[in-house]
Amino acid sequence: MQMITVLGATGSIGVSTLDVVARHPDKYAVFALTAHTQIDKLAEQCEQFSPKFAVVGNAALANQLQTKLRVRGSRTEVIYGVDALCQVSSDAAVDTVMAAIVGAAGLVPTLAAVHAGKKILLANKEALVMAGGLFMQAVADSGSVLLPIDSEHNAIFQCLPADYGRSPGIGMNSGVEKLLLSASGGPFRGMSLEQMHAVTPDQACAHPNWSMGRKISVDSASLMNKGLELIEACWLFAVPEQSIDVVVHPQSIIHSLVQYSDGSVLAQLGNPDMRTPIAHALAWPQRIESGVANLDLFDVARLDFEKPDMQAFPCLGIAREAAQAGANAATILNAANEIAVQAFLDQRIGFTQIASVVAQTLNSQVINEPESLEAVQESDNQARLYSSAYIKSLEK
Ligand code: NAD
Ligand code: MG
Repeated sequence: MQMITVLGATGSIGVSTLDVVARHPDKYAVFALTAHTQIDKLAEQCEQFSPKFAVVGNAALANQLQTKLRVRGSRTEVIYGVDALCQVSSDAAVDTVMAAIVGAAGLVPTLAAVHAGKKILLANKEALVMAGGLFMQAVADSGSVLLPIDSEHNAIFQCLPADYGRSPGIGMNSGVEKLLLSASGGPFRGMSLEQMHAVTPDQACAHPNWSMGRKISVDSASLMNKGLELIEACWLFAVPEQSIDVVVHPQSIIHSLVQYSDGSVLAQLGNPDMRTPIAHALAWPQRIESGVANLDLFDVARLDFEKPDMQAFPCLGIAREAAQAGANAATILNAANEIAVQAFLDQRIGFTQIASVVAQTLNSQVINEPESLEAVQESDNQARLYSSAYIKSLEK
């Protein structure tokens, strides 16, 4: 029996994870479920999965949830705050942690799981983007198993040789020439920068193929999601940014590909449903049923590919530059993007201003190698302060 903590249980990935878990009560049990504010949804999940702990954002919410659960006869104990998140990520009873909190808020609890040597199912790409060097060092030091949930990275993981990266330095020596990162192109594919000036948050969140949280939906629309994924892939697979090409593939059937030196290209295909990578990582190296319908190639009929439009989607280029710059550039990029996306969702800035906020913040900050978690957090904080002030100046 694998004991699982789901960080961000009420989100899109959290719900898909619990859907897969519920299909295999003989294999998986839930140790803890966490949510920031959605306590009604969390209460229902606690009733269904009877975790030992539920974690929420603050004391008031914890009291409310504990009362709700008592009324329902549940024995789940409710705790709150970042320390509680770390506690349920690192408890000795836990085997696997699904890291599915959105944004930088996921870093500390995910790192707690890494330090405790847990098997980590990583959906929270922002954690790796903002602290890649420290994160991967902690994985190496603790012997924690890190499995990618992002569909593209999970696809690449499946297409790489089984021993890839198991020993240091193997990387590109295994005949791997390039990683080809799939991108759907998002809801604004084919539009010019001009045409995107007036798009609304709801239009940005209406993804053609995937149903996701609002932050990642906006990132998918701006292609910043692909930029974050490029940086994520550099860390996960120990490759330089130049070894990764972005391929726009509007059908989202091929989730990514690996190109080998003999001319072979391996791809992973499937319906666009996150339960496939979640089930893959949960059961790895075995396979389990995920609830995803079989892929019907006759139904799909055709697969198209195009180059990303770097003029219309400047965020992808900015992220590539940050990947090249290394050090804390990705920390700054991620922080500024989180602030800018929230400002766009709050209708304080336009969609195309997200890229300006990120570029301007990157230009304003000192680039240096963060040697500690505190240094990463300081960079993150400075970038947030700068981008918030810059957004204020734009509003005038
Ligand atoms: P979501 O917005 O649907 O859910 C986010 C979850 O995080 C919720 O449970 C929320 O309660 C929790 N949360 C938010 N802020 C928090 C905070 N400050 N402290 C503690 N918990 C907090 O997001 P999602 O779409 O499920 O995405 C989660 C992560 O997975 C993101 O990093 C995203 O990039 C990644 N991801 C998502 C998808 C997808 O299909 N949704 C695909 C690939 C990767
Ligand atoms: Mg993805």
